[in-house]
Order: sequence, then structure tokens, then C-alpha cells
Amino acid sequence: MELRLYDTLTKEKRVFTPIDPSNVRMYVCGPTVYDFAHIGNARPVIVFDVLFRLLRHLYGADHVTYVRNITDVDDKINDRAARDFPGLPLNEAIRKVTEKTAAQFQADVAALGCLPPTHQPRATEFVLPRADGRTDMVTLIKQLIARGHAYEAGGEVLFDVQSMPDYGALSGRRLEEQKAGARVAVDAHKRNPADFVLWKLSSEHEPGWDSPWGRGRPGWHIECSAMSAAYLGGPDGKDVFDIHGGGLDLIFPHHENEIAQSRCAHGTPAMANTWMHNGFLQVEGEKMSKSLGNFFTINELLQTKKFGSNQWHGYVLRLAMLMTHYRQPIDWTVDRLVEARKLLKEWIDIAYGAEPESDDPPKEIIDPLLDDLNTPGMITVLHALHREAVRLNVEAARKLNSALRFLGIWNGEKTSEIYSFGYEVKTEVELLLAARTEARARKDFKESDRIRDELAAMGVVLKDGKDADGKPVTTWEIAR
Ligand code: AMP
Ligand code: ZN
Repeated sequence: MELRLYDTLTKEKRVFTPIDPSNVRMYVCGPTVYDFAHIGNARPVIVFDVLFRLLRHLYGADHVTYVRNITDVDDKINDRAARDFPGLPLNEAIRKVTEKTAAQFQADVAALGCLPPTHQPRATEFVLPRADGRTDMVTLIKQLIARGHAYEAGGEVLFDVQSMPDYGALSGRRLEEQKAGARVAVDAHKRNPADFVLWKLSSEHEPGWDSPWGRGRPGWHIECSAMSAAYLGGPDGKDVFDIHGGGLDLIFPHHENEIAQSRCAHGTPAMANTWMHNGFLQVEGEKMSKSLGNFFTINELLQTKKFGSNQWHGYVLRLAMLMTHYRQPIDWTVDRLVEARKLLKEWIDIAYGAEPESDDPPKEIIDPLLDDLNTPGMITVLHALHREAVRLNVEAARKLNSALRFLGIWNGEKTSEIYSFGYEVKTEVELLLAARTEARARKDFKESDRIRDELAAMGVVLKDGKDADGKPVTTWEIAR
């Protein structure tokens, strides 16, 4: 069976044929490092880690190059640096914020069972021309100006969208519609309202690099065009690579603009041959996001007493993510995590006693993955292997062992190492509630308030009320 992947650009599932099977090349947009990543941000990291594992299996571990960047230049980072380190010079404060956040991100995604990508370039190291000659942003912008695709105006260098006849093909937003809709703010210095920033001047209070256009900083999109070319430029110098990924929200404007920059700078018909986008992780039907405030950080799910349990092991979070196909939305609920934890426990209990079948995963679980990463289909196969294994089918137990390891949802630990985590907070809440009811009955309000605070710290909110007979009752729910 061949690998088939859904491509956002052509809107169809297509057979995946690498440009060079001895070096399959994938780029995925990484985090902006100003704060803890939330569990929604973990979705692309996990989805593309599964794809990375699959590609390594298909083409050989040494024949896949996976690049995931770190965005360490962004106005959100500047704001955070000024807020958290007001006494420090800006550059130093920025470095503190980005180094700490990037390290935290690495630890979080490692706990989620993700392999490190081949390269994790930081944007700030690719602004100016480099000693090693890898592609940088300033050189790319110069190329765009030289080829007539960019211009300087009003303290900015802008990409001239009208210079690219098929601008808008990925998102399906054609220029005419954008003008008519006038959704893009009209800036007087732009030739076209949809023109976007490649470079902008910095004030003395903003980070900046000396460039041919003055001391400034790059726009958001150019970094990915530079860093993908830096590590994935083809041996033929054509700068087209195989797979580009990220969340749905990146299709427009980010990926649309990356395509415009890369194709126009290199004169190629494509930036990447396959464009993949994961769906949103949602809370009660809304996208989880920092701005809506409806988020849980990966860190707090792993570490603290929030979200309905003491802690969730990284493997449980990873399996919970893979229970839904990557292009579908996920509603992130406690029930889902409880379900994932139950499954994983059953599987590991059986797999632990068996030798792994081999270093290779069983074909049964690869087949569904070849169909556009059908992870729910793969989970159905794990269920079947488990059913066989409990009937003392040793072969099935060994396959289950290999499969779990391959998927990164287990690495040979004893069940107790995983499930000393997160055991039944419900019991704990009920016990504390009973203690509080008793304290209230004996009018020890100091104690009952203390218990309320302890529960609040676990993310549990109490509601005091009366039942039908007028007796006081307390109900509880997980705070959001
Ligand atoms: P950001 O740091 O916001 O640029 O996001 C980093 C990555 O996480 C991008 O690929 C986003 O598309 C993705 N992402 C952000 N929020 C969600 C969400 N709620 N569900 C799935 N992916 C998300
Ligand atoms: Zn990007």
C-alpha cells in the first residue's frame, strides 16, 4: 500500500511521492516562545511527530529531514520581556524569555512522546547573512526586491501581491475578493491592501538588526521561507520540498504568504508539494486559544491538580489526541482523558509482559496510517490486538508491544510508573467535600473555607445549595 496524504492546496488525498526518497523533507511551523504552550499547540506537534515516525519507517530513519522552527522574534515576546524583566536591557530580557520558554516547550513535547526534529532553527539566527551560507531573511528580501516582487514604502518593505498572478491559491482567497471585501486594513503606503510586511523599522525600544533598509526586524512570514530554504533546499537548487504542515489557522495569511515569498524568491512553481493542516482542538465548540482564555497548558496537565485529575501522563494526553483523525476538530474533555487512560492501562498491562515483536511496527497498524494518518483506524487495530492478546495469543501481545512503542504512546515503563499519576481525583474531591460538610455542620468555617481553597487550587469549584427537602448540599465542577 502507498502513503496517501490530503493536500490542502489541491483539496484531495493524493499518493505521496517524495522528490528524493533518500532525503524526504518536511517543515512544520513551530511555537512562538513567549509563554507556556497550551494543549491545542501540542496537536500539530503530535500529529506531525506521528507522520515523522511513519516516514522514517517507510524511507529509513536517516532519510527524513524534519525542520520545526522556533519563533523567537515577535511583538508578543517584546511585551512579555518588558513586563517580566523591566530592569534589564531589552535584548537580554528577550533572551531570558525566549530561552526559558523554548526549554519549557522542549520538555513538554518530549513528555508527550515526540521525537526531536532533525533541525530546530531559531528565527533570530536567520535574520542576517550567515557564515555558513544557509539562506537568511535579509538575502531573501533582497532577492524579492530584485525580482520585482517587493518594494520599500513608509518605513517597511512590503510584498507586492499583484506581482504574483496566482496569489491566494492555498486559501482560495483571490485578490479581487479581498479588495471587494476590504477586510484587510487599507494602509496608504501600500500599493494593494493585501500587501504584507517583509521588514519593518524598529524604534530604539524594539529589537532590531541593521539592514539595507535601516535598523529593523522581519515580518512574521519571512522567517519560515528562510529557515525552510536553509535546511530543505533541494540538491537541484530548486528549493521545493515535500511536506509543509501546521494548524488550520495558519493557512491564511501565514502559509499563503510563505508560498508567495518562497516561490517568487526562488522562481519555483511550488514551495512544498503537499500542504497539511490539523484541525482545531476545542473546548465546548470553541478553538482553544490564549486570547479566549479557554486553555490548559501542556505543563499544567502534566504537572498540576487541574482538569479533573491530579496529573495526566504524557502518554495519556498523546493517545487522547490520536483518538480523533487529525483533520477533524477535537473536543477536549475530561471524559476523553479518562477513556484514553483506561485504554492505555489495558494495553500496557498486556504488552509489558511480552517481548517486542521486533524494532519494526506491525503491518496491521501501518496500513491505516498510510491512509492519510488514520489514527482512529489504527486504534481499532490496537483494540483487536489487545482482544487477541488477552486470549493468550503471544504473537498479538508482542505486536501490541511493538505498536505502542512505535507510536510513542509507551516506552516500556511499568504500568505503575504511569498510573501512580492521576488516580481518581473524584475520590479525593468527594473526601474533601465530606470533610467540609462536617466542618460546616460543626460551624468550623475556618476549616470549611480552607478546604474550599484547597479544592479551588485543584481546579474544583463548589456550589452550595439546598436539596428538595431544604437540606444543604454542595455540588462541584471543574473550573474552566
Ligand atoms: P501559535 O504559537 O499560535 O502560532 O501556534 C503554534 C501551532 O499550534 C500552530 O501550528 C497553530 O496552528 C497550532 N494551534 C494553535 N491553537 C490550536 C488549537 N486550538 N488546535 C489545534 N492547533 C492549534
Ligand atoms: Zn511558518
